Amino acid sequence: MSTQPKNIVIVGAGIIGCTTAYYLSRHPAFTSGNNTITIIEASQHGPAQGASGKAGGLVAKWAYPKEIVRVSFEEHVKLAKEHDGAKRWGWREVEVGTWEGNGDEGVLDRKKRGKGVGMRSLEKKEGLDGEFKAGLDEEKSKGPSSSLLPVDLDWMEERLTESYASMAPTGSTAQVHPYLFTTSMHQLATSAGVQAIQGRVTAVSVSSGRVIGVTYHISSADEPTEIPATDVIICAGAWSPTIHPLTKLPITHTRAHSITIQPQPGTTISPYVLFTSISLPSPSSSKKKTEFTPEIYARPNNEIYVCGPGDDEPLPGTVDDVKAEVAACDAIWEQAASVSVQMREGVVDRKQACFLPLGGPILGEVRGMKGLVVATGHTCWGISNGPGTAKAVSELVFDGKVTCANLKSLEPHKFF
Ligand SMILES: Cc1cc2nc3c(=O)[nH]c(=O)nc-3n(C[C@H](O)[C@H](O)[C@H](O)COP(=O)(O)OP(=O)(O)OC[C@H]3O[C@@H](n4cnc5c(N)ncnc54)[C@H](O)[C@@H]3O)c2cc1C
Repeated sequence: MSTQPKNIVIVGAGIIGCTTAYYLSRHPAFTSGNNTITIIEASQHGPAQGASGKAGGLVAKWAYPKEIVRVSFEEHVKLAKEHDGAKRWGWREVEVGTWEGNGDEGVLDRKKRGKGVGMRSLEKKEGLDGEFKAGLDEEKSKGPSSSLLPVDLDWMEERLTESYASMAPTGSTAQVHPYLFTTSMHQLATSAGVQAIQGRVTAVSVSSGRVIGVTYHISSADEPTEIPATDVIICAGAWSPTIHPLTKLPITHTRAHSITIQPQPGTTISPYVLFTSISLPSPSSSKKKTEFTPEIYARPNNEIYVCGPGDDEPLPGTVDDVKAEVAACDAIWEQAASVSVQMREGVVDRKQACFLPLGGPILGEVRGMKGLVVATGHTCWGISNGPGTAKAVSELVFDGKVTCANLKSLEPHKFF
């Protein structure tokens, strides 16, 4: 590898950009060389304003693609150990299950409901691989209990439950509070020498097949600012194809709404994440039933996070322009409240929306543009796969090749 100093620019301070900044700042070549790292974020409100601050936070050994998962789960464990992740970002193990049942329509206002499929139904369904299936079968063979629900899952109503099934063996799933994890990575990176800038990057300049700089605007009215760069890493989530010359990147998006609920004081919410199918009377006819599939996450800080289906709202200019529809959030609350006293009696403290990047992950250097790396399109598993992605990018940038995993199948070559 060349020993010329590097000016590395990371575009986007979501989980991918912030973990990339962290891993680059920990690489021996950064600490020993005369290199610079800059992270540029379009939001006026700092890091984690998009999907990374508004996701569920599941970290799973059974996520995909497998190539990154293997590295990423281990890295999550190491990070939590090194920085007291349990305290700092709520790292803990969690149980995951599917729940099917009927909503109690008595508590609902029909006009407010939405309809659609859950976030994970938007993605190809991947079966559990052999290792996890075997563990799960072993758990199931422990025999039925008299209740449909696990004993400690006491915040879903037994009387409304038709079925519950564990989705993965104990120990194969953990969680983080995604906003706290992402902002912690940002803080740890900046305190190790990464410079943070606010601005919207519009273009990466390439000359003679090499990256030479980046153009950004502090606000839409401002003149463009250009900074030199030897290496640029595009971590702009759903916005990645808006940056020249990456318009051919096949990253699409969907907008997803979510809410957080604070249970009544003194109520403890046991650590479960539930992929639900809730049957409720159809908004148009009380005789027909509609299935709603909100995902419900007990969070380490005892809040409950619930997300709903994706929609096809166009991507706005920046993350700060994303609008949350109150009606969509109210519909999510009604579905959740129809199956749980704790959610019904809790206080909704956040109604929010974000754009999920779809189509990847795409990870690697762009052919013919030395120094231009993309790390984007992480679909439903960006929180889980952030550290593994970042470790791979730090190796690619400083060592010239990825050694922690074989990520050939994710490279962007076929798009350029
Ligand atoms: C409802 C929901 C639940 C989810 N639950 C989970 C889960 O449980 N587990 C899991 O692993 N994943 C989950 N995900 C997926 C996860 O949130 C995403 O994969 C991940 O957040 C993507 O991270 P990112 O950094 O690529 O994108 P983002 O978080 O969108 O960050 C991109 C950043 O780039 C900035 N940016 C964009 N364009 C520019 C530009 N031109 N110049 C400068 N900055 C720019 C944006 O402002 C933004 O801050 C969920 C997603 C949703 C929507």
